[in-house]
Amino acid sequence: MCCAATSTTESALPPSGSGINIQPTFWKTEKHRYEPSFWLIARVAVLYSFFQIVEKLGVFVWPKILEYTVTHGFDVRSIALPTLATMGIGVFFLYSFGFYGFIYVFLDKTPFFQRYRVHKGDWPWKVDPKRWNALLWTTTIQVVFNFALYIPQMLMIKFVLGTPCPWRVDVETLPSAGEMFWQTVFFLFMEDLIVYHTHKVMHSKRFYWMHKRHHSFKHCFGVCTAYSHPFDDLVESAGPAIVGPLILWDRMHVWTLFVWLVVGINCTTETHSGYELPWSMYQLIPFMCTTDFHEFHHRFPTKGNYSSTLMFWDEVHGTNKEYYAWVQAGRPFPSDKEEKTKDE
Ligand SMILES: [Zn+2]
Ligand SMILES: [Zn+2]
Repeated sequence: MCCAATSTTESALPPSGSGINIQPTFWKTEKHRYEPSFWLIARVAVLYSFFQIVEKLGVFVWPKILEYTVTHGFDVRSIALPTLATMGIGVFFLYSFGFYGFIYVFLDKTPFFQRYRVHKGDWPWKVDPKRWNALLWTTTIQVVFNFALYIPQMLMIKFVLGTPCPWRVDVETLPSAGEMFWQTVFFLFMEDLIVYHTHKVMHSKRFYWMHKRHHSFKHCFGVCTAYSHPFDDLVESAGPAIVGPLILWDRMHVWTLFVWLVVGINCTTETHSGYELPWSMYQLIPFMCTTDFHEFHHRFPTKGNYSSTLMFWDEVHGTNKEYYAWVQAGRPFPSDKEEKTKDE
C-alpha cells in the first residue's frame, strides 16, 4: 500500500507499521491516506458497518432502557450520566486492558499482528519485567481512582447546567447512522482543539510535574492510555470529550453520546496501542493521528507532537518539525538498553 517513492531518501523510509505509512511531510501523509488500496476499502467497510450496527443497536436497546427506567420509577435523564460513567469504565477496560492490552501480550508471538507494530524492539515487559509489573499496578490503581472522580464531575455538570442530561432521550428521535457519524467527527475535532492546547500547557515547566506521569510509558501500549494525574485526566480527557456534546445540546440524542464514548476511548487507545492497524476506520478521518506520531511524543516528550487525536494543530503551530526530521532520518529509536540506562 506504499505510494511510489520520488527520491532515494523517501524510498529508504521504513514503514510505520502497515497502517497509514507516514510520509516525511504532513500533506504527503494526508494524500497517502486516501490512495486507492485494499485497506482503504477495508477501512470504509469497517466505518460503514460500525455506524450501521450502532444505529440498529440503538433501535433495539434504547426502548428497553427507557422501559426499564419507567418500570423502576427512574427518570432516564437522571441516570443517563451515571450510566455513561459506568459504561466508560467498562469500555476503557475492555479496550485498553483487554483488546489493546493483555490480549497483545498473548498475541506477542503471533506474526500476523506483530507486522503491524510501530516499534520493532522488545516489549517493555520483556526488557524490564520488574519495572513493568510495578508500573502496571500503579496504572490500574490510578485509572480506577480517576474514574471514581468522574462521579463528582458528573454531579458538577448537573449543578452548573441545571439538568443532568440536556440531550434528547426519546425513542422517536433516535439518531440515524449519518447523524451519529457527523456528530462524532465534530466531537473529535472539538476534543482535539482543546487537547492540543491543554497538552502543550501541561508540557510547560509549571505543569510538567503532573503530566510526566503519563510519560512514564515511553513505549506505548494500550494500558497506558488513561494513566495520568487526575487533573491531567480532567483537562485532557474527560473535559474535552464533553465539550462537543454540550455545544450540540438537544440537537443530539443521548444514544450518540454512548457511541461517542466508545469511539473516543477506542480511538485514543488505538493511538497508544503500539500497533497501526491498516483496517482502522479512524484513519479515514482527515489529519487523524497515527500510532507512530504519538509514540514519538512518548519517546521524545520535549520534541513536539502534542496532538493525540488529529495532527492538524501540530502542523499549524509547527510543532511537528522534529518528528518529520526524525522520520526522514529513518526513525532512530533509542535502543531499549539505552533507554533503560537513561531511566536509572
Ligand atoms: Zn499519550
Ligand atoms: Zn505529553
